[in-house]
Amino acid sequence: MATMKTGRRVAVIGGGVIGVCAASWLLRDGHDVTIIEPGGIGMGSSYGNAGCLNASSVVPMSMPGNLAKVPGWLLDPLGPLSIRWSYLPKIAPWLLAFARAGTPEKVAHQAAALCPLLQDSFGAYAPLVRDANAGHLVRRNGHLVAYRTKQDFAGDALGWKLRRDNGIGFDLLERDALWQQEPSLSHDYALGVFIPDNGHTTNPNQLVRALADAFQRDGGKILVAGARGFALAGERLVAVETDAGDVPADAAVVAAGARSRPFTVELGDAIPLDTERGYHVIITDPEAVPRTSILDAAGKFVATPMDMGLRLAGTVEFAGLDADPDWRRARKLLTLGQRLFPALRDAYVEERLSLWMGFRPSMPDSLPVIGPSRRSRDVVYAFGHGHVGLAAGATTGRAVADIVAGRPSELPLHAFSPTRFK
Ligand SMILES: Cc1cc2nc3c(=O)[nH]c(=O)nc-3n(C[C@H](O)[C@H](O)[C@H](O)COP(=O)(O)OP(=O)(O)OC[C@H]3O[C@@H](n4cnc5c(N)ncnc54)[C@H](O)[C@@H]3O)c2cc1C
Repeated sequence: MATMKTGRRVAVIGGGVIGVCAASWLLRDGHDVTIIEPGGIGMGSSYGNAGCLNASSVVPMSMPGNLAKVPGWLLDPLGPLSIRWSYLPKIAPWLLAFARAGTPEKVAHQAAALCPLLQDSFGAYAPLVRDANAGHLVRRNGHLVAYRTKQDFAGDALGWKLRRDNGIGFDLLERDALWQQEPSLSHDYALGVFIPDNGHTTNPNQLVRALADAFQRDGGKILVAGARGFALAGERLVAVETDAGDVPADAAVVAAGARSRPFTVELGDAIPLDTERGYHVIITDPEAVPRTSILDAAGKFVATPMDMGLRLAGTVEFAGLDADPDWRRARKLLTLGQRLFPALRDAYVEERLSLWMGFRPSMPDSLPVIGPSRRSRDVVYAFGHGHVGLAAGATTGRAVADIVAGRPSELPLHAFSPTRFK
């Protein structure tokens, strides 16, 4: 794809899925675009996620009734939630805001806002994926949510109502129909919900890297450096300061994932970004290969067939950006996976396992922050996608390009405003 360099100089801070997608759309608008990334492209949260590109992920994390479940989750050694108690004082305000976000009215609003961000994930990625020759990394073959009991399913009624209200189609599968849909599944699971329009990538890191390779091929630049802040002349951006010197820029995008907060503080915005740490374990040459990605509803983890093996990904750990990983959380995912798929072995040699921990960039209201900063409209925020950043990547990137161009965006942006926090 040939682009003319007639636009502005745009610096994109962060080479995760959000930064790379934003950079790709900005390049298409004819801007002179530089991604500033200190690590490898797509090596942050975008590396180890469950790969789901699910329009059905409109259900926010803080749901009515969840608070009552927290003690049980924390006490269960295989539970989906853990907290490093030393981090509690720091994250307490975030947790309070999270709890407050979980009223029936608010979750209906959040789901309606997430719907246009996620509903056309495949359509929004399509031009980027096509130009990057990355079609082999994307599968639109559905997604299964597996329940052990009908009571568990009934407990999620509000989530399914939110999906139905937002136009998500799904099929209920009981026993034989469920096991026919997914032969690798344990018969301890009695009920499933199949969402045909969903899908996944078989390698999230490769997908982001393929998009970044196409971006470079078409004239985009990648600077291996950490961004430190902004040089402003009044309200106008002059440069992004990095540890490799200043990058002159007329506009900048903050897409540093869970590490975006210092940039917002510098620009005078009080944005409650924190991190929900997540883990994965990959079994190479797995004995069970599901047809689609599967969410274990009670375990709150996803099993996805990927190019490198079976990835079991999930859990939420509140421990901030600095604490060491607790690898027991990843190993617990293996135990849960063995319950989901009876064909998996009881034990694996370490060589067949690969463990990972990453930082979801998470907002208490489950909505990302997409919009200009308070101090300078030249700096656009695009972070805080929590559990849905991969699915929302291309749509977010397109909206960022709209904001930089000053044209109306197809994506309603009001709910994602950086100024929505008191
Ligand atoms: C276990 C797990 C499972 C998940 N499953 C899914 C899923 O199935 N589907 C889905 O849609 N989402 C999923 N997610 C969420 C998804 O991975 C994230 O929302 C998404 O990757 C966020 O992308 P990002 O680009 O904002 O952040 P990142 O991918 O973290 O990228 C941010 C980048 O900014 C860089 N950076 C940091 N500081 C600086 C600086 N000072 N200067 C320049 N660059 C900097 C970092 O090095 C990093 O590369 C999952 C997450 C986890 C942890």
